Amino acid sequence: MTQIIILGATGSVGETTFRVVQAEPERVSVDGLVANTQGERLWAMGRALQARWIGLADYAAGAALRRQHPSGAPRIAAGMDDILAEIAASPATKVIGAMSGFSGLLPTLTALENGKDILLANKETMVAAGDLVQKVAHESGQKIIPVDSEHSAIFQCLAPGQPVRRILLTCSGGPFRGRSREDLRSVTVEDALHHPNWSMGAKITVDSATLMNKGLELIEAHHLFSVPYEQVEVLIHPQSIVHSLVEFVDGATMAQLGWPDMAVPVQVALSWPERWAMDSLPLDLTRQPLTFDPPDTGTFEALTIARQAGLAGGLMPTVLNAANEVAVSLFMARSIAFLSIIDIIKEVLNDFADNEEVSGLAQILEADQWARTQAADVAMRYRQ
Ligand code: MG
Repeated sequence: MTQIIILGATGSVGETTFRVVQAEPERVSVDGLVANTQGERLWAMGRALQARWIGLADYAAGAALRRQHPSGAPRIAAGMDDILAEIAASPATKVIGAMSGFSGLLPTLTALENGKDILLANKETMVAAGDLVQKVAHESGQKIIPVDSEHSAIFQCLAPGQPVRRILLTCSGGPFRGRSREDLRSVTVEDALHHPNWSMGAKITVDSATLMNKGLELIEAHHLFSVPYEQVEVLIHPQSIVHSLVEFVDGATMAQLGWPDMAVPVQVALSWPERWAMDSLPLDLTRQPLTFDPPDTGTFEALTIARQAGLAGGLMPTVLNAANEVAVSLFMARSIAFLSIIDIIKEVLNDFADNEEVSGLAQILEADQWARTQAADVAMRYRQ
C-alpha cells in the first residue's frame, strides 16, 4: 500500500488523482490533501478518502473551515507553515505536486527533504527552481516522476543507458492555432479559455493559448531529463494523441500515444515501474488521423522567449515564470489585452540585470518577488 499526499487536490489534476485513487483502494491510501481556498470541496474529498489531514494554504479559509468542522477528522491545517509541518511529519512516501504556479515550490522542497518522491504536475516549480529542486532531490535520494502528459510520455519512452539525440515535445497549438498576430489583437478571455482538446485550470489554459505552456514545458523537459535545450524541439500536433517522442542516437524514435486524459499520466506516475489496469478508452487509429507541423514562432513568440530564458539559465527562468503568472492573471482580470501578456514578459526579462547562478532558495524567492513587482509596474502602461 502506497501512502500519498495530494497538493492542489481541488484543481484539475487533483480531481483526476482523486478519481484514480478512489479506483485503487487496495493500492493507494491518502494521508493528506492540500488546496488553496476551496474548503468545502477539500473537506468532502478528505472524508471520502479517509485522509488523516487536509490543509488550506489560505490561512483565513483554513481557519473558517475549522470553525465549520470542529470534529477534527480529518484534521485541518491552516496556512502554508501548518501545511509544511504536516508534509514533513507525514508517513506518506509519494506526493502529487499539482498546485498551480510558483506556490508549489515550498511544499515540493519540503516533501523531497523529508523522504518523499514527487509526482510532478506543477511545471512552474521546475521552471522557477529546476536546478535547486534537482539538487535537493539528488541530495535526499528522492525521485521526481513527471505527471505533465508530454513529460510522462518522454519518461515512458526513455530507457536507462540509451543515449538520446532529440526530444520532440508535442503541442496541440491551443485555441489560436493557425491565427495571425493581427487576429490575436482582439481575442477575449473566453476565447483563450476554450481549449480544443484538454479540460484544465484557467492559468494553464491561457498558457496553452499563448504557447507559453509549451515554453515552460521546454524548460521543464531540460531539467527533468538533463537534456540540453538544443536537443528539445516542439512539434505542433493538433489531435493531442501522440503525447511526445524520443529519438535515440541511432535514429530509432519512440512515442507514447493515447486519448488526451490526465488519468493515464497520473496513474503511470503512481504505479511506476508497474502498470495497473485502467478502464480507459482504447485508441482507434483507423478513425484518427495524426498530423504534425512546425510551430509558428513568429506569431507565438513565447516559445522563443522561453528557450532564450532557459539558455540564459540562472534566475532568468524564475523571472520568466513570475512575469508570466502576473501577466496571465491581469489578462484574466481583463486589465490587459492578450498580446500584452508576452510584451510584458519580454520587457521584464529585458529589465532583469542581476542574473546569476542559483545557489539557494533565498535568491529564487527574491528574483520571483522582483519580477512580480516589475511585471505589475510594466503592466501599468498596457492597461486597457
Ligand atoms: Mg503538458
